[in-house]
Amino acid sequence: MALDEFGLIERFFARGGAARADVVAGIGDDAALLRVPAGAELVAATDTLVAGVHFPADTAPEDIGHKALAVNLSDLAAMGAEPAWALLALTLPEADEEWLAAFARGFHALARRFGVALVGGDTTRGPLSITVQVLGRVPAGAALRRGGARPGDRVYVTGTLGDAALALEGLRGERRLARAALAALRRRLDRPEPRVAAGLALRGVATAAIDVSDGLLADVAHLAAAGGVAVTLWPESLPRSPEYLRAAPSAADWGAALTGGDDYELCFTLVPGMESALETLDCPATAIGVVEAGSGVHCRLGDGSEVHPARPGYTHFSGSTR
Ligand code: ADP
Ligand code: MG
Repeated sequence: MALDEFGLIERFFARGGAARADVVAGIGDDAALLRVPAGAELVAATDTLVAGVHFPADTAPEDIGHKALAVNLSDLAAMGAEPAWALLALTLPEADEEWLAAFARGFHALARRFGVALVGGDTTRGPLSITVQVLGRVPAGAALRRGGARPGDRVYVTGTLGDAALALEGLRGERRLARAALAALRRRLDRPEPRVAAGLALRGVATAAIDVSDGLLADVAHLAAAGGVAVTLWPESLPRSPEYLRAAPSAADWGAALTGGDDYELCFTLVPGMESALETLDCPATAIGVVEAGSGVHCRLGDGSEVHPARPGYTHFSGSTR
């Protein structure tokens, strides 16, 4: 290795994210010291990305850097938290300077956009794996939670669903896509946009929220279970991008939107009558279902029939492969 561990940290990670006055000590001591304002709760989340599992092995390093932070910020968004700090545990097969420079560029650019300071981490040698921890803040008691949905609430989702799943189908040769269509869909897979502003705007508005990372159906099942309620989804109502609709023009081709992963949109519930609050969001939100008494997730079509999708979503250790 031309660069040793400390040279690498100094060169690629010691600077580049947001500078924050509440970082008493960042990279360079045994641990970071962070000032949490009185009256705030600390919100912590971590997610690992493994090459070939969470991103295709040929993903550009700049995109990997972006995605590693974005998927974590998405968890903070789902809690209604304001992001502040991040830690980065990197396992690398080699200290490839070009790779590291691009990875750091993608990571730091997103960090700066969301005011996140990189305050520490760990660097080891091994098969490529990236673990990011993010820390954010909410006023005490104000966090959005999974468990608050009540019968009668409406279910919404931000943005559009299924683009990343269609990209994966295209990459795997399971769906024929024109080159330009695949490129557009792949951007959603490689560069998810965490819904941080929407999460903040939904504080005090949504009764429950979750981010859609493992597929809408699977994540709505978590929301239903946490709230002790049932959810009926309307698959034909799922919002789909123009690229999705070009690749899968049939109104009945909602499978990727319902069960595909890697969307990083927010799914949330509202008490009826709160719809005007959606105008304060910086992104579209679409009504996709309703909360009922009972348990589980049901999918009902416009003609009243119920459908039972075969594949609920992605889980590790379940025998399914992505
Ligand atoms: P220690 O041996 O005390 O655990 P390290 O030698 O691993 O500390 O790290 C030295 C400093 O560099 C620490 O502040 C640590 O948080 C930081 N650091 C290590 N790797 C990374 C990384 N990939 N990104 C950001 N900071 C890092
Ligand atoms: Mg130490």
